[in-house]
Amino acid sequence: MNLVLSLTEQCNLRCSYCYYRESQSARSLVMSDDVLRQSIQFAYEMSLAHKQNNFNITFFGGEPLLCKEAILKGVEFAKQLNAENVRLRFAVNTNGTLLDSPTLDYFQKENFRIFLSLDGPQDVHDSARRFPNGKGSFNTIQPFLSGLSKMDSVILRVISRKYLNGLADSIRFIHSLGFKNISTATDFD
Ligand code: SF4
Repeated sequence: MNLVLSLTEQCNLRCSYCYYRESQSARSLVMSDDVLRQSIQFAYEMSLAHKQNNFNITFFGGEPLLCKEAILKGVEFAKQLNAENVRLRFAVNTNGTLLDSPTLDYFQKENFRIFLSLDGPQDVHDSARRFPNGKGSFNTIQPFLSGLSKMDSVILRVISRKYLNGLADSIRFIHSLGFKNISTATDFD
């Protein structure tokens, strides 16, 4: 059973290809604790009903690290619920800009898979992945890339029209950082 929890519509970036881009300022929904717990409970019960041995929970957004407390609560609740020894796995999809060492330690301790958005070298990444003030986000995530490359990380690289020709170089760059697991998504602009 795979459960994807969209904890929040909010994000601290304004990527040029974000499908929330036009409506970013109007989007402010954040998942309540009640919905978080009921969703986990429902999906867990479905796992048992269908005799599934694995229960995977992915924390998604917007940017889910804006709701770090909800991640901690969700993990604890799922662990408490798991009386049947179902194999629990957690994952998070993040733009990486709100990471810090304690958060990475926590993800490692709880055996998280981390899906990190990274488009390539700084000029490629910063051309789309920017803060609301227009500043690129590469330098903010750069200090964590080495640590992330040694964890269970998957890089998500957006393929955009502008950087289609640079795709191979970007993948080489990401691979040179030590990441072995790289996935792509297409900007259908
Ligand atoms: S990090 Fe994701 S949710 Fe945030 S602006 Fe970029 S594409 Fe949108």
